[in-house]
Amino acid sequence: MKKIYYTGLLGLALLSACGPKKPKETPDKPVVQEVPHKQAPGFNADSAYYFVEKQVSFGPRIPNTAAHDKCADWLLKELARYADSTYVQAATLRTWDGKDLESKNIHAYFGPQHARRVMLSAHWDTRPFSDEDPATPSKTFDGADDGGSGVGVLLEIARVLKSSPLQNIGVDIVLFDSEDWGNPTMNDSYCLGSQHWARNFPGKYKPYFAINLDMVGAAGARFCREGFSTQYAAAYVNKVWNAAARTGYSSYFLMEDVPGVLDDHYYVSTLSGIPAIDIINYSRFNGSQGGFGAHWHTQNDNMKIIDKNTLHAVGTVVLDVLYNE
Ligand SMILES: [Zn+2]
Repeated sequence: MKKIYYTGLLGLALLSACGPKKPKETPDKPVVQEVPHKQAPGFNADSAYYFVEKQVSFGPRIPNTAAHDKCADWLLKELARYADSTYVQAATLRTWDGKDLESKNIHAYFGPQHARRVMLSAHWDTRPFSDEDPATPSKTFDGADDGGSGVGVLLEIARVLKSSPLQNIGVDIVLFDSEDWGNPTMNDSYCLGSQHWARNFPGKYKPYFAINLDMVGAAGARFCREGFSTQYAAAYVNKVWNAAARTGYSSYFLMEDVPGVLDDHYYVSTLSGIPAIDIINYSRFNGSQGGFGAHWHTQNDNMKIIDKNTLHAVGTVVLDVLYNE
């Protein structure tokens, strides 16, 4: 399939080569300077991997459990080391099956003086059952990729932002809670934390765009142009996928359109009005059935599936975007 996209790119190059010749610049005409590409600081995948491992060590981060409480304390402490300030938006959120989840959306603010802000988010809770695993549909699972990986990448980005502060923009890192308690047959039963957040925006300045990370750590992950991202934030999809091409990660960030996924970014876009995109491992090429990959919502979503190369690809691309804003 890669070949088809390559053909597409070649076609584009040919088109512009055959197009009308640009008139020569005259000396009195202002020359438009192209903004030079800035090299972003390096993303340390060992550090991101450690952050994933640490979350998993608490046990599944299922709301209303001790592991969830302990992980929240650790996340907050860790983010406080790097950010200018942190904030917890606590709420009791009712699930589709009538449970009240004590939820915490965890925030870290970088460069609070900037009104121009970019938001990065991921969910930090774990689904309470491995219902895609035919052998153990009601058992808990580690959630190393689903939940853990996105948070791991964001914690490493937080570390980088502390050591190399951004000059032009501020960054809000938001870790959403209670994303994954949903019922696959009921719309809006997932993403309870982000729905609450978007209806009760807690910040001073609204970010002008947002990138959500979900399942960004598995070996062989493929990130495609997800439907709601292109519907509500096409320009930012292009920005991120261009950054992937620039940093040499087009084999992870495919030029493939896939249907919309009801993930946290959907509610950020539709309820808060901040254009949001999702970087999520979802492709027709994932396993024999396609979709989110064979480990999704099964016992196999554990540290064995986490690949530092994937974490590195995602972290590098996001940093490249941030340091070129
Ligand atoms: Zn999930």
